[in-house]
Amino acid sequence: MKAIAVQRGSEGPTVVEKPRPTPNEGEALLRTLRVGVDGTDHEVIGGSHGGFPEGEDHVVLGHEAVAVVADANGTDLDEGDVVVPTVRRPPAEGTNDYFERGEPDMAPEGEYVERGIVGEHGYMAEFFTSPPEYLVSIPEDRWEVGFLVEPISITEKAMEHAYASRSAFEWTPESALVLGNRSLGLITLAMLEYGVDSDRSFAAHDFERTYCLGRRERPDPTVDIIDEIGATYVNSNETPLETVPETYESMDFVYEATGYAPHAFETVEALSPNGVGALLGIPDSWEFEVDGGRIHNELVLHNKALVGTVNSHVKHFEGAVDTLDELPDWLLADLVTTVATPDDVAPAFEYGDDQIKAVVEFDRL
Ligand code: NDP
Ligand code: ZN
Repeated sequence: MKAIAVQRGSEGPTVVEKPRPTPNEGEALLRTLRVGVDGTDHEVIGGSHGGFPEGEDHVVLGHEAVAVVADANGTDLDEGDVVVPTVRRPPAEGTNDYFERGEPDMAPEGEYVERGIVGEHGYMAEFFTSPPEYLVSIPEDRWEVGFLVEPISITEKAMEHAYASRSAFEWTPESALVLGNRSLGLITLAMLEYGVDSDRSFAAHDFERTYCLGRRERPDPTVDIIDEIGATYVNSNETPLETVPETYESMDFVYEATGYAPHAFETVEALSPNGVGALLGIPDSWEFEVDGGRIHNELVLHNKALVGTVNSHVKHFEGAVDTLDELPDWLLADLVTTVATPDDVAPAFEYGDDQIKAVVEFDRL
């Protein structure tokens, strides 16, 4: 079968031939439909994040997948079910308390592998195998956008943690600012703006005013989407983050999806009293000067919180399935800028300003 992998020492992804996997007992065989590409994949390709499976000279990419059950192999799945796989799996040494509790997203480094990112092959292949407890069912008619469940689940988790940090008092947030206007930022902005209100979604909220900060000049396809969503675009060349409160307003909630390390600290200044910032970016090591005293003082005297959050698990995926249903069709269509096939995969990895979310389509339902 065809798989898309990064080989040790080579630049960029290539198509490789691999044997079709055979499911072990307790695993199903999945036929891949679509796999999305995000900033993390570009970090894996560039070598700044993630790692090869032990003893291997390549890693199959892909962690945002939608697939169909090809062989249930005695599990309680049904052949033909459309599913989305979660990303984390136990490390080679075996399971641990985080996995036993169903909270692998809270496991520290070394206590998990991540398919397509750290230490395990991903889903960018014609087939893959998985135990059913790591698969979340989606309605069949959502197969084309099912790969968005994983990135949405990232924000479901971030919202759960941000709200939990404000649960000790009556928090009535009105303003929200998303930093970053690529796929994670835009998906999150839409979630905040459209007020997803399902029982399972952790992104349920009531923001009256939403903003999205980027560094692009108009005209730009991502800014068009921000306009269409009804949020305010903040051009950081004119209004750097630290000046957002004086130019617009201070924010009850900030969601950082740039990976630009100074934003973590500037977020504290941009927050309103009692506000919370969720940090999602994964920057490289970078030394720079900050006024540590001022940040410390702001956090304490204004009851502010910063939460770092990574990955997500089954309950967040289930929330994300509901959320996906509440996002408008025009948005889902506009987010997907490239549908590539394994025969001509290069366009999926182009990362110009006109690329938002690329997908590799292995098969159709
Ligand atoms: P990108 O990393 O490509 O998106 C980054 C966005 O931030 C782009 O729109 C970029 O603008 C913008 N940006 C970067 N620096 C600045 C700056 N100084 N000022 C203004 N805007 C800036 O893709 P994703 O959306 O996929 O991911 C966002 C971040 O979240 C990444 O760091 C990624 O690693 C991380 N991530 C974290 C996850 C988690 O679980 N914690 C899960 C998924 C992703 P431009 O396009 O114009 O360059
Ligand atoms: Zn991702």
